[in-house]
Amino acid sequence: MSDPDNLIDADGNALVFSVLGGCSADTQCPSYVWYRKEGPTKGIALLRQWPTDFNGVAVVPVLAWNKSGDARNITNWQVLLVDRNTSQVLQTVSDAFVKFDNAFDILFDSESGYYERVNQVAGSYVPTGQRVGMQLTQPLPPVGVAEEIRFFRFAAEDVGRFQNVLDWMKKMTPPWYQFVLQQRPLDIYLNPQLKTQGWAGSAACCWGFDHARIEFEHRPPQDVFSDLYYVVSLVHEAQHVADYRAKKLFVQGRSVDACRAAERSATETERAFLVDLLKTQIYGQDRDHANAYLKFADAKLADGTFDWNPACRD
Ligand SMILES: [Zn+2]
Repeated sequence: MSDPDNLIDADGNALVFSVLGGCSADTQCPSYVWYRKEGPTKGIALLRQWPTDFNGVAVVPVLAWNKSGDARNITNWQVLLVDRNTSQVLQTVSDAFVKFDNAFDILFDSESGYYERVNQVAGSYVPTGQRVGMQLTQPLPPVGVAEEIRFFRFAAEDVGRFQNVLDWMKKMTPPWYQFVLQQRPLDIYLNPQLKTQGWAGSAACCWGFDHARIEFEHRPPQDVFSDLYYVVSLVHEAQHVADYRAKKLFVQGRSVDACRAAERSATETERAFLVDLLKTQIYGQDRDHANAYLKFADAKLADGTFDWNPACRD
């Protein structure tokens, strides 16, 4: 690419190369970034890091024009993984460029072995589940699996606790147990950073891979009733996953209205679960907790701003 300042994207928009694009203290410049000359929140990025080893052979990445179409069109370029010794092309990555429509960061996720796009919200990173480029390392195995749901970053005993949550749901509210299982393939991650944003959980699905991802800011409870909110959060995030899979909602670049629609959908589901739970044999403090969360859900729906989520604020 002789003139990185004279490129266009697939739609013919002029691009300008950003020397500092994609760089921050944490991410150490994971990507080269070209912004649109008109509308600089949109652009295209090329990951800097590529595997140094391909099926046991030492390789170097080479940027090459695919020899069809306009060489100024950035998407007519591809990355070749070339054998360091023989110069033989071992792999062609034709979708090496990542389109974006908002400022974003990229962080390496050692569980998946991929770089992933993250959103910055209130100074913290919120995973989007969207993977970028190629797998650079073998993924870490999950700490455990319950009902085919994979767990990452938790302590091993947390998987048993989560199984208790599912067993309890199966006994008390079988349709809601089924609702959670319907969101598989599903990975659940511990992410204590969510707490700093005042979030109990977050959900992402399903860019370039099938697995949905739910994150919780704390470990599953030892006793379900002591932390009923964990179950309520699980149902809430499961609805986000269902909506993402149905392509009704998107995390990236979504408008305030779309954010509110997403939170309304999840909060209505949360409410429906609590109504069903209150029809079961729960008594005393447990019933009080369920009623309190129902009141909370009603208040959120009546208010309608869902402004605990910064993306829903005007
Ligand atoms: Zn939500």
